[in-house]
Amino acid sequence: MSFDREADDQLEFTSSSGVAVVPSFDAMNLKDSLVRGIYAYGFEAPSAIQSRAITQIISGRDTIAQAQSGTGKTATFSIAMLEVIDTKVRSPQAIVLSPTRELAIQIQNVIMALGDYMNVQCHACIGGRKISEDIRKFEHGQHIVSGTPGRVADMIRRQYLDTRNIKMLILDEADTLLEKGFQEQIYEIYRYLPPATQVVVVSATLPHDVLALTRKFMTDPVRILVKRDELTLEGLKQYFIAVEKEDWKFDTLCDLYDTLTITQAVIFCNTKSKVDWLAEKMKEANFAVVSMHGDMSQEERENIMNDFRQGNSRVLISTDVWARGIDVQQVSLVINYDIPLNRENYIHRIGRSGRFGRKGVAINFVADDEVRLLHDIEQYYSTQIDEMPVNISDMI
Ligand code: ADP
Repeated sequence: MSFDREADDQLEFTSSSGVAVVPSFDAMNLKDSLVRGIYAYGFEAPSAIQSRAITQIISGRDTIAQAQSGTGKTATFSIAMLEVIDTKVRSPQAIVLSPTRELAIQIQNVIMALGDYMNVQCHACIGGRKISEDIRKFEHGQHIVSGTPGRVADMIRRQYLDTRNIKMLILDEADTLLEKGFQEQIYEIYRYLPPATQVVVVSATLPHDVLALTRKFMTDPVRILVKRDELTLEGLKQYFIAVEKEDWKFDTLCDLYDTLTITQAVIFCNTKSKVDWLAEKMKEANFAVVSMHGDMSQEERENIMNDFRQGNSRVLISTDVWARGIDVQQVSLVINYDIPLNRENYIHRIGRSGRFGRKGVAINFVADDEVRLLHDIEQYYSTQIDEMPVNISDMI
């Protein structure tokens, strides 16, 4: 796996004092079976966030970890969870919550892969799947639960998910989980957990109001943070195309289609209906695309994800349900067909490309009435978004 070690080393962390940097997985004092799983997965050395946060989390302290998209946060908390659980105890000991079902499944897969030599049971407890299947899994015995808040809360309420042995709660994409809509479910789940449960909050973006909220359920957390202007990844180039009118975006996209299929690409729209509309129009024009959003059945969502992960489809049109956390290493291009209305989501969307120091390009389609939105994003992140050059294919 290629890894831009130099860029990773240059990340500046605004961390609590005394956070040690552990330079190798061997030096982390992990279980042998876990270290074996890490190397077998293809990791050689820890990334910046991993070398700082893994041992902190294992030490048991509440932790706030923030680092850019694609820098290895998932493996950070997965390794820490795998280290602290006791596989001889056949009941849930750690829960990781995420805002989308796709992300919860992906995290389950990472945990299973890293824990391949540990005999670990990790269940993806997500909405849209059969409750009877959840019940069966919990009755069989699970060590780790990776889920979405609604279904996890439901399983706890119905006492299928036994919380008595829970030691650790991870909130991935924590700022989304603490927004209205999810917040109540998170608090509810938290109230069911043993009082000593360690809480770990993770995201690429953690606005101040979210950091303030964490005081409600975290005790003297250790903070491992990066500065805002370092959130836009080094290797990720951002461009815009001034299309003037909304109507001209479609032709612009068709012109770019060959570029999109050089590797894999994700196109973001702001609404589900726009995703449906654009996918339909592209198909009518004989361009191969797939699309996904939250109103589709879970089965359909999973099929589309699997196809895209396997590279059978190359161009995916989606909403912000795809903005966070999803890791498909082949994605080197992100198109914002609509400029996102939320600054945080901009960073998350473009972070779907350029995973772990790979090359990545984001192209923003801006109609006249979106120029200000993009300008605000540019200023907020102190980043530069240039007009798209003609040799764009060379950059992917
Ligand atoms: P994040 O959660 O920060 O967005 P991920 O944990 O999804 O990032 O990691 C991004 C990609 O980098 C994944 O494909 C992952 O397998 C890979 N990766 C993570 N840590 C390492 C490592 N130490 N060495 C090599 N590849 C890594």
